[in-house]
Amino acid sequence: GLFCPSFVRKNWLLLSTVAAVLAGIGIGVLVREYGNLSNLDKVYFAFPGELLMRMLKLIILPLIISSMITGVAALDSNISGKIGLRAVVYYFCTTVIAVILGIILVVTIKPGVTQRASDIDRVGSTPEVNTVDALLDLLRNMFPENLVQACFQQYKTKREKVKATSAVDKNSSIFREEPTTMAMTANAPENKTQEYKIVGMYSNGINALGLIVFCLVFGVVIGKMEEKGQVLMDFFNALNEATMRIVQIIMWYMPIGIVFLVAGKIIEVEDWEIFRKLGLYMATVLSGLAIHSIIVLPLIYLVIVRKNPFRFAMGMAQALLTALMISSSSATLPVTFRCAEEKNLIDKRITRFVLPVGATINMDGTALYEAVAAIFIAQLNDLELDIGQIVTISVTATAASIGAAGVPQAGLVTMVIVLSAIGLPADDVTLIIAVDWLLDRFRTMVNVLGDAFGTGVVEKLSKKELEQMDVTSEVNIVNPF
Ligand code: ASP
Repeated sequence: GLFCPSFVRKNWLLLSTVAAVLAGIGIGVLVREYGNLSNLDKVYFAFPGELLMRMLKLIILPLIISSMITGVAALDSNISGKIGLRAVVYYFCTTVIAVILGIILVVTIKPGVTQRASDIDRVGSTPEVNTVDALLDLLRNMFPENLVQACFQQYKTKREKVKATSAVDKNSSIFREEPTTMAMTANAPENKTQEYKIVGMYSNGINALGLIVFCLVFGVVIGKMEEKGQVLMDFFNALNEATMRIVQIIMWYMPIGIVFLVAGKIIEVEDWEIFRKLGLYMATVLSGLAIHSIIVLPLIYLVIVRKNPFRFAMGMAQALLTALMISSSSATLPVTFRCAEEKNLIDKRITRFVLPVGATINMDGTALYEAVAAIFIAQLNDLELDIGQIVTISVTATAASIGAAGVPQAGLVTMVIVLSAIGLPADDVTLIIAVDWLLDRFRTMVNVLGDAFGTGVVEKLSKKELEQMDVTSEVNIVNPF
């Protein structure tokens, strides 16, 4: 039956999240009607939600460091020559395509933009964005001058006085959260604000992009060091596991936090337009996922393998449904294996590498979702993103999808990395958390589909190697199942 304990046990995360969202809506509506809270009361009321946000931000630093380093290092030692390389190229290309698709959709659909006169207002005052400066800032962020400082970066230090030039974007995100600057941009005459030049785009105390770049390089180097690198590998693997356990603990707290985040949001909503925007946001993510899985991936498969992609996808049906139901690509892995090997008859030597590695690092759906969510939040806050910020979002969304574990709502946690990389306010994450349990299912399905098509593509490209290989010798890769 639907309510038998085992169903509840298996789906506690889903059930408690949905219950929390509903409870949050209920409590929010009641308090709004009858509560008569002062502004200070509202802050107190939303406090448990504030704690959830703090925990999510807290975990960013160990999460970036441990998951990026172990991910890349493990990859390097596991790669079995050309086959592994092909798989990685496939993962990377499809993920990047997914991110670009997401960005194109969210920029054209504009789910977070208010349809008001403000559009007309903005025409005259659209800040001039200096592309060269934006790109230079991007590179500056990628190479922080001081690694320790990159973990404690304050954006206060990130503005420099310059003679008035057009390089300043007064609507830029860094100005948003800082009261003095807000006052300055609000009150000061136009030319005053032009005295500052932005030399960094991050807030939240972390230069995520800089750390990601460093950890990628570090991981590759450790992976190549063989024996000497082993100590470091062990260390970061242990760190990664410890971090994941802490994420699990946060997950337990999440339902409580969600109740008050959602209720707090409902209390302060003045503009019900937000629900239209949220609906559009969901539609944007879902249509992006649909295009990626019905057009992009099948097309890649068709061009390379020259077989019917939809028949292939039908063979994966059971895995896709499992993913949809449990929103975890890792937990779906056994089913993915079965479908790929028994229904689609993919060579076991291919699946043994492509599927487990894919389940941890290849997440097209998550990457697409993170890019859309970040730009949606920027739109909600009326921020115009320059080219450097959009590239930053693409890079961090790709990295965040690699860093996300294949467990429910992992993408939600790593999304904070994307937001902090361009200094977006994390407050609006509330809206995203409220609907994440639904989007999570669909993006997980696309994650699994991406891995599955990967087996077909890599098998086709590796025909020669497979024939040359001794059939009896299995590829030497640990299969966790
Ligand atoms: N739940 C997703 C997966 O397992 C990860 C995510 O949250 O995006 O693939």
